[in-house]
Amino acid sequence: MKIIEQIYVDGAFVAPHGDERFALFNPATEEEIGEVRLGDNRDAHAAIAAAKRAFPAMRQTTPAERIAMLQTLAKAVAANADALRAAMTIEYGAPQSFLAFSVPHAANVFDVAARTVADYAFTRRIGNAEVVMEPVGVAAAITPWNSNIGFICTKLATAIAAGTTIVIKPSEMSAIQTQVLLEVLHEARLPDGVLNVVNGYGHVVGAELSRHPDIAKITFTGSTTTGREILRNAAESFKRVTLELGGKGPQILLDDADLDRAIPHVLASAFRNSGQACIAGTRLLVPKRRHTEVISRLAHAVSALRPGPSSDPASDIGPMVSARQWERVQAYIRLGQEEGATLLVGGEGRPEGLQRGWFVRPTVFSGVTNDMRIAREEVFGPVLSVLSYETEAEAIAIANDTEYGLQSYVLGTDAERMRSIARQLEAGRVVINETPADAQAPFGGFKQSGIGREFGPFGLDAFLEPKAIIG
Ligand code: NAD
Repeated sequence: MKIIEQIYVDGAFVAPHGDERFALFNPATEEEIGEVRLGDNRDAHAAIAAAKRAFPAMRQTTPAERIAMLQTLAKAVAANADALRAAMTIEYGAPQSFLAFSVPHAANVFDVAARTVADYAFTRRIGNAEVVMEPVGVAAAITPWNSNIGFICTKLATAIAAGTTIVIKPSEMSAIQTQVLLEVLHEARLPDGVLNVVNGYGHVVGAELSRHPDIAKITFTGSTTTGREILRNAAESFKRVTLELGGKGPQILLDDADLDRAIPHVLASAFRNSGQACIAGTRLLVPKRRHTEVISRLAHAVSALRPGPSSDPASDIGPMVSARQWERVQAYIRLGQEEGATLLVGGEGRPEGLQRGWFVRPTVFSGVTNDMRIAREEVFGPVLSVLSYETEAEAIAIANDTEYGLQSYVLGTDAERMRSIARQLEAGRVVINETPADAQAPFGGFKQSGIGREFGPFGLDAFLEPKAIIG
């Protein structure tokens, strides 16, 4: 049992004022593996005060000093990849294929931020104005449980890049990986108060950070419902906000697609992190004339996916993070059938041979129409909906007919045609044939998938205020 008794304030691990406890589970076995003591408003206030005290010195740092800090953190995280992977394995059960990406990503975001700082124009001239990009003030971050370490590192890296300090409230469900990460970051010795982390409930610590007048900037990754609540709370003091929210990504498979290449891409996008990904491509749009062929190839490929524990490198699909999430996904699988979609692969219940653990059968529905709730709502599990279309224009219309707009996908062979489609999609990112993104490319959502962008110069802009000095 891992018992986490402390939060991180002003460069030290300290006991929180709050004394509520939250139990932590291994989702692959349903065993209780730990407990975290949660902070409350008093802890949020102590962390904000520490971040505020550290801000004047941090805002005076030079870009070169901040680059050095970021590079130190990158090295520290990379050097502890095994410990981080082990914590993520027991705490959220992601397949090793996902961890092989997400753990190096957590280290890489610091290096990427260092490169962004090196290239960034913190002072610019516009006519007679000298424009100085100044740190926005003390920042707060609230992160979700899925890929929690990556989000903490991204938000911390951007705060440091901008020359500000931060208070982070991670997901209470990811306390073990947060603790391992914090021990690593602590050893790297940032100035006291630059990083503060308060474990706690969202409606307590998260809400307090969203409201507190000393927080100038809030950066949040999580559900659209919570994002809306944070935006309301932040409105009182006009905080700058970055919201990275949910998605219902379309994958447009074009009639010229080579299925040998496209089907693995479809699976990778739909079932990434066991479907527990905001960027999951969960609506596959297939041209009518290739429907039968695609469905048969897809059924075959998805049936071959292996659900299993993260500790087994052969597992393709891990468990859902919690019993609640498992129930939620089951309810969507029932709903799809009630709505009249055809269950092509998978279905309700546990995969064969996995009677313990919150495992779901990888599921595909065909004959889905875009008005069905399984096509409109984020399931956050390994459930793919297949819709069909006649013309390219219809495919684009279906893809855009959603309240979300995070990441869309186009699969085909004609590069010009795919770019033209990409330009017509309402999404912060459009990925063509699963091409890996440049690490400084902006990421974020159109519509109800969020506000603002992360990574690279766009991410840094969001932590800075332009000041025009005239004369
Ligand atoms: P969630 O919204 O339930 O929780 C996210 C965080 O917000 C947690 O730390 C939680 O404690 C906190 N929180 C809850 N209520 C709060 C409140 N009233 N005020 C302030 N904070 C509060 O989301 P989750 O279940 O942890 O994560 C899954 C969701 O995150 C999915 O919808 C997914 O699409 C989204 N997500 C988005 C991105 C992105 O980059 N766009 C990435 C990953 C996940």
